[in-house]
Amino acid sequence: MSGCLFCGIVRGDIKGDIVYQDETIVAFRDISPKAPVHILIVPRKHIETLADVGEEDKGLVGEICYVASQVAKEQKISQGGFRLVVNNGTGAGQSVYHLHFHLLGGRPFTWPPG
Ligand code: 5GP
Ligand code: ZN
Repeated sequence: MSGCLFCGIVRGDIKGDIVYQDETIVAFRDISPKAPVHILIVPRKHIETLADVGEEDKGLVGEICYVASQVAKEQKISQGGFRLVVNNGTGAGQSVYHLHFHLLGGRPFTWPPG
C-alpha cells in the first residue's frame, strides 16, 4: 500500500536491516530497539491490525509464529526466553498500521507488561 512504512521496507524502497525473508514474510530489526534483540516480523501483505486478519490469513499468522521461533533460535534468544508481542490499536500502543509481531529477547522481562 502506498504511504505505508512497512510496505516500503517489504518492497525494498525503504532501507531495513532484514534478518529473514521469504515469499510471504519479512523480518527486520526495529529502528528503536527495546531489548538487545528486537525484530519486527511482518507479512508482505498489507493488513492493518491483528483484528483485520481474515479467515484467509489464518495460515499466514501461523507462519509468522513459526518464523518467530526460528529467528529466535538463530538470534540465540530462544533458550533465555523471548517475547512475541502484537500491539493492536491505539490503546495498545500500535503506531504503524501494517501488522507486525515484535520479537524481543536478550534481557529479562517483567509481567504484566506496561
Ligand atoms: P508499534 O508501536 O506499532 O507496535 O510498533 C512499531 C515499531 O516500528 C516501533 O517499535 C518502532 O520503533 C518501529 N519503527 C518505526 N519506524 C521504523 C522504521 O523506519 N524502521 C524500522 N526498522 N522500524 C521502525
Ligand atoms: Zn503496509
